[in-house]
Amino acid sequence: MRFYLAIFLAVASVTAQRGGRGNRDSADEPPTVLKPARVFDGESMQEGWAVRVRGGRIDAAGPAASIDATGAKVIELPGTTLMPGMVEGHSHILLHPYNETPWNDQVAHESLGLRVARATNHLRNTLMAGFTTVRDLGTEGAGYADVELKQAVAQGIIPGPRVLASTRAIVATGSYAPKGFALEWHVPQGAEEADGVDSLIRTVRDQIGHGADWIKLYGDYRWGPAPGAHPTFSLEEMKLAVETAHSANVPVAVHTATPEGMRRAALAGVDTIEHGDQGTPEVFKLMVEHHVALCPTLAAGDATSQYAGWRKGEQPEPQGIQRKRATFKQALDAGVTILSGSDVGVFTHGENAREIELMVQYGMPAVAALKSATSVAGQVLHMDIGVVKQGMLADLIAVEGNPVQDISALRKVKFVMKNGVVYKQ
Ligand SMILES: [Zn+2]
Repeated sequence: MRFYLAIFLAVASVTAQRGGRGNRDSADEPPTVLKPARVFDGESMQEGWAVRVRGGRIDAAGPAASIDATGAKVIELPGTTLMPGMVEGHSHILLHPYNETPWNDQVAHESLGLRVARATNHLRNTLMAGFTTVRDLGTEGAGYADVELKQAVAQGIIPGPRVLASTRAIVATGSYAPKGFALEWHVPQGAEEADGVDSLIRTVRDQIGHGADWIKLYGDYRWGPAPGAHPTFSLEEMKLAVETAHSANVPVAVHTATPEGMRRAALAGVDTIEHGDQGTPEVFKLMVEHHVALCPTLAAGDATSQYAGWRKGEQPEPQGIQRKRATFKQALDAGVTILSGSDVGVFTHGENAREIELMVQYGMPAVAALKSATSVAGQVLHMDIGVVKQGMLADLIAVEGNPVQDISALRKVKFVMKNGVVYKQ
């Protein structure tokens, strides 16, 4: 870690001299040529390719003999696969693992400063694990700290991935948590409450005004007298939120696990559905028809089941995991676009690759799983990332081995570049 820090400080001092921004705009700088054993370009594996980077973007990619290295700084990466920096589609950088501290106690007992201090470590560990972009889906009681952390990364103050922020997230009144306090107490919630025409429209606009890149709604939650999750927002409310966000060109993500919550979200025209644990073939078909991507968060269930006592590998899979396997398979069979996203924060930041490994274990081909964390993610998030080709942002990582043959290669990250700046080598 000390070694990474030294590199980072050197890089940071260079970026600071350029005006303190992590972005580079230097046509005067020599290009860098990266020479790995092979390149996963976001679509397929290309043996013997090299990549030239200049000014924060990919300048050329192709067979090594075709890449002009004249005047370039050459970085040899023998034995590695160079690939786009991975995307974490569903993170909570302001949460830490629930087996360390339950969610309720993090929200109710950990102060903002403490949570932000932890989050700086989370961001660094995420970047060093090869994840160069995170879509953070709610600060869970930590206000607008995701926007502030995003600024700290962008200004080169702390190392971290690109952050897409969604600020406080939006819940229907009475549906969220923490719960269980004296009923006459007004307990602050882990997300912002809003309902109906006036307050929902105002809250969506207010969060966009505070820097939200995405709007996150909770379409269902564990509430009401019956056990389990039940829908919260009506279809009309979701449509209002989507219409309001989309008019500012801000996409919408909806947490929903129930078929009815998923149905309302798809019909409302949201951009992604988070979790989708109880999805049905009918609801997945609806998602395809309405171009809604699924962020399956397999790793979250895998983690919480183990926190609840499941001894993975020794005991049979609990019912929740069996159902998740089955519905994930239904989503794949229906042709739903899958955005890799793990709900990291529930488990340790920097172990984000767990999601991609689980997608493969649950039956997704390795190349499709890699695409879901690279090129497909770039499309779903509308960013110039996830593909190794000229003009894309130079977010590149190198892993030891070949992740198409063995997905666990994603854990052996040897090199990380973001925006043309080397953070790990
Ligand atoms: Zn989440």
